[in-house]
Amino acid sequence: MDYRRSYLRDLFAAAPGAEVEAYGWVKTRRDSKNVSFVQLNDGSCFNDLQVVVPEGAIDESTLKRITTGACVRFTGTLVESPGGKQAVELQAKGVEVFGEADPATYPLQKKGATMEFLREIAHLRPRGNTFGAVFRVRAQAAFAIHEFFHRRGFHYIHPPIITASDAEGAGAMFHVTTHDPYAGKPADPAADFFGKPAFLTVSGQLEAETLALALTNVYSFGPTFRAENSNSARHLAEFWMVEPEQAFCSLEGNMNLAEEFLKEVIGAVLDRCAGDLEFFNQRIEPELLSTLSHVVNSPFERLTYTEAIKLLEASGEAFEFPVFWGADLQSEHERWLTEKKVGRPVILTDYPKEIKAFYMRQNEDGKTVRAMDVLAPRIGEIIGGSQREERLDHLEARITEMGLPMEAYWWYLDLRRFGSAPHAGFGLGFERLLMYVTGMKNIRDVIPYHRTPGSAEF
Ligand code: ATP
Ligand code: MN
Repeated sequence: MDYRRSYLRDLFAAAPGAEVEAYGWVKTRRDSKNVSFVQLNDGSCFNDLQVVVPEGAIDESTLKRITTGACVRFTGTLVESPGGKQAVELQAKGVEVFGEADPATYPLQKKGATMEFLREIAHLRPRGNTFGAVFRVRAQAAFAIHEFFHRRGFHYIHPPIITASDAEGAGAMFHVTTHDPYAGKPADPAADFFGKPAFLTVSGQLEAETLALALTNVYSFGPTFRAENSNSARHLAEFWMVEPEQAFCSLEGNMNLAEEFLKEVIGAVLDRCAGDLEFFNQRIEPELLSTLSHVVNSPFERLTYTEAIKLLEASGEAFEFPVFWGADLQSEHERWLTEKKVGRPVILTDYPKEIKAFYMRQNEDGKTVRAMDVLAPRIGEIIGGSQREERLDHLEARITEMGLPMEAYWWYLDLRRFGSAPHAGFGLGFERLLMYVTGMKNIRDVIPYHRTPGSAEF
């Protein structure tokens, strides 16, 4: 078995006449009078290889074992496909069955299974069209993200996953402990593994700042955990976050980076995943392709929070949540702005300090901070970021004002004591980006195994 020749993707580009082998899982087998047709896929690309099995090429009892879900290796000749649906098909001469799949019990058979049902068989759903496409796009997007930063000289860093600091009160945290929480005895943090309470990280930002103020431009890309006790279609308890941080950078530089970033990564996916996106466009989200090209080719709208509030107040819409200066924007507000008002992504800046984290740079007005959120149609918030407060006195004042434990931030404050610099960064939820580029409606369906309240199967 030669891994270099085992991709079906490569067979579609090969010249007819070649003797080849084709590995994969059977999508369907259809028998007609003198011939059987097998649709084979190995996940290397969207298209299935059609395998034509002439009568007598494979003995009857072996042919019967080639059912939906079975894993096989065909050998045969590539020939021009008369159907025109694909360039070539395989004229089978022989087959090896690696693993059968009993038609009576194989769960992934029905066409038109619901997303909810497919979540219950998340270990098998990647073999279907939709999830094969989702996970190929996910892989390409991840690679494009690394390329984007690498080309610009950003260093890839790895903040800790276990942390003792609540980065920003970004969300409820998961405890990490060796204490048995079900044993009934009270936990003693000092006797615990780390000698103090520890958690799974909600963001690597504070640690990324320490590296940016040494390496200038850095980014992290890794798992992040928030005990979001909601059943929203946009929140996971375990998700992947991309967090660039730049020294010598203002909010404008940060917005430019976010915009270039989204355009370039979406552009790369459009280029490299054409077959998969075509499918999403046809079956999942109409006009996906035209919307994505539009996003890549037009400037994002930039508004201040205050301007956005005025637009929302003047909209005449009956929102469920009231709109007033100081209110945190809800998904319905974000969607109205991006979908109805502007029709493409919007970057909102300068939010009231009360609804943003302590580390954001304070504006002269004493009321707002240099925050920015990138909002996208269909998704709402896709990126949250800010210019960071680099002035020690301002930062300490805000920590005090918000009643946060000053001692815990000693190292973070040291950055402002020693060689401080203007700097800025943002966090992008990788799964939100994937929802945007695939058109998938539920965040649970763009990650192989979702972690949400009540759900940690597999
Ligand atoms: P939201 O208001 O949508 O809950 P947030 O403001 O709490 O998000 P940030 O702390 O700004 O989120 O995190 C940065 C980015 O991480 C967000 O813009 C979003 O794309 C993503 N994100 C945040 N929470 C989640 C989650 N629970 N599941 C998936 N992605 C998330
Ligand atoms: Mn945010």
